[in-house]
Amino acid sequence: MEKLITKLKDVIQGNVFSEKEFREFYSVDSSSYKLIPKVIVIPKNEKDVINTIKIAKKMKTSVTVRGAGTGLVGSALNTGIILDLKNFDSIRLNNSHAIVGTGAIKGMLDKKLAKEKKFFPPNPSIGSFCSVGGMLGNNSSGSRSLKYGSVIDNVEEITFIDGNGKKITLPKNNKISNNLIKITESIDCKKFPNVTKNSSGYRADKIKTIKDSHKIIIGSEGTLGIILSAKLKILSNPKKRILFVVEYDSITKAATNCIEINKTNPSAIEFVDKTTFDQINCKFEKQSKCLLFVEYDENIKTSEKLLKKLITGKIVKKLQTEKEISKWWRYRDSSLHYSLKSIKKEKRIPHLIEDAAVPLKYFPKLFEILNKINKKYKTKSIVYGHAGNGNVHVRLISDRKNLGIIKKMATEYFDDIIKLGGTITAEHGDGLARSEFIKKQYGTANYQIFRKIKNYFDPANVLNPGKIITSKSTIIQNLENF
Ligand SMILES: Cc1cc2nc3c(=O)[nH]c(=O)nc-3n(C[C@H](O)[C@H](O)[C@H](O)COP(=O)(O)OP(=O)(O)OC[C@H]3O[C@@H](n4cnc5c(N)ncnc54)[C@H](O)[C@@H]3O)c2cc1C
Repeated sequence: MEKLITKLKDVIQGNVFSEKEFREFYSVDSSSYKLIPKVIVIPKNEKDVINTIKIAKKMKTSVTVRGAGTGLVGSALNTGIILDLKNFDSIRLNNSHAIVGTGAIKGMLDKKLAKEKKFFPPNPSIGSFCSVGGMLGNNSSGSRSLKYGSVIDNVEEITFIDGNGKKITLPKNNKISNNLIKITESIDCKKFPNVTKNSSGYRADKIKTIKDSHKIIIGSEGTLGIILSAKLKILSNPKKRILFVVEYDSITKAATNCIEINKTNPSAIEFVDKTTFDQINCKFEKQSKCLLFVEYDENIKTSEKLLKKLITGKIVKKLQTEKEISKWWRYRDSSLHYSLKSIKKEKRIPHLIEDAAVPLKYFPKLFEILNKINKKYKTKSIVYGHAGNGNVHVRLISDRKNLGIIKKMATEYFDDIIKLGGTITAEHGDGLARSEFIKKQYGTANYQIFRKIKNYFDPANVLNPGKIITSKSTIIQNLENF
C-alpha cells in the first residue's frame, strides 16, 4: 500500500489522501454497506484521472469513481482507489444543452438552469444533493421521468476515460461506436425487462444506431469508464403545473387506478403509503391507506376533466401555485426519511429489494408479490415510489437478523418480478446488492455480451470491479452494523 501511495503522490497534481479519517469517510455511502478503500485521489485535471488508472493497473488495484455518495446499493464503494471528481464541476449552458463536469452537484445545475427558466428533467427525490456523475452512473430518474424519461433519455454526448486510460467521446468517436454496435448486435432485447425505467446491467437495448453509443456508459456504475463531462438536454420550464393529491382506501384500488390515470399524459404519478401521509399536516379520511400525487404540466384543463372522470379515489388537494406544489413534492421526496424515522434501528432490514419495477399493467400484482414475501417471512413493509413507472421503493421491517433469509427473500422477490417482465432495479442500480442477479435478469447469452462490453472498455478489470460483471455473491457481504 505504501508503494501505491508514494507512486500516486509523485504523479498526481491534485490531492492524495490515505489517512484513516478519509478512508473511513469514503468507506460508506447511503447504502447499508461498508468497504474501506486504500487511498482517495481528488484529481485536479484529466491527466490525473488517466495517471490514476495507469498506476492502478500497474499496481493491480482498482479505481472506483464516487459522486456525492447518495447511492443506495454501495455502487461507489470498493477496496482500491476511490476517485472523487469534485473539481470537475464546470457548468456551461446554451439554449438547449448543458455541458456539465460530472463532479457538479445537481443543486448547482438546477440553480443555474432556474435563472434561465430551464430544467434538466430527471429529478431524483434526493434533490439537490447528488452529483451529475452519480446520476449518469446509476441512470437515475425521478417523479417526472414518467413523461421525460431517465438520464439515459436526456444525454447527447459523453466524454470519459476508459480502463486503458484512454480519453473517448461518444457518440463522436466513429471507430469505437462502430465496434460497440458490432459487440451488441446480437443482444436479445426480448430478454430485457418490458418497463419504462431500468438501471440494471448495461443498456445495450438502447444502442440502435451509432448516435446511441454513449448510452452504454450511462448506468454502467463506473465499470466501463470515468465520465469527465456530459452534454445534457435541457428544456424550458412548463408555463403551468397542477398537482392533485388523491386518497384511496385500498392500495390495490390505487395501483389499478394508476393504469387508467397514466393514459391522461401526466408528468408524474407518485405513490405513498400511510407512513408518509401520517407525517403530512393535513386531515385525511380515517380509512385512507395511500395517496397518489398526480401532476400535469400541459393541457391542464382537459387533463383535469379526464382525471376526474376516471379517478376511483378522492381528490383531497388541488395545488396550482409553484410554492404549494413544491411544498407537497417535498413531502413525497421525504418518504425515505419518514420511513427510516418510523422504524426502530434494530428492526431495519438493509434496503436490498427496494427498487423493482414491473410493466404498469401488472402494478397491482407487485403489491401481491410483496404481501406474499411479508406473509412468508413475517416482515412488514413501508412502500412509496414512482407509481406511473410501476416502480416502488420498499423498506422491510423485521425482528429477525438472519442474513441468509434476506438473501432468500431477495431471490424470491426478484424471481417474481422478472417473471412479470419487470426489472430488479429501476433507478438505484445494481451495486453490491444486485449485481449477482443480473444474469437471472437478462439470461446467459446477454450476460456474455455484457462481459464482452466490459472487456472492450476495461480489459484489466480496473474500474469498479465486483459491480455488474461478477461471479461473486455480495448481497449480504460487508453490511455495516448488521
Ligand atoms: C433519500 C434518497 C432519495 C433518492 N431518490 C432517488 C430517486 O428518486 N431516483 C434515483 O434515481 N435515485 C435516487 N436515490 C439514489 C441516488 O441518490 C441517485 O442515484 C444519485 O443520482 C446518485 O448520485 P451520487 O452523486 O450520490 O452518486 P454516487 O452514490 O457517488 O455514485 C453512484 C454510482 O455512479 C458512479 N459514478 C459517480 N460518478 C461517476 C462518474 N464521473 N463517471 C462514471 N460513474 C460515476 C459511481 O461509481 C457509482 O457506481 C436516492 C437516494 C437517497 C439517499
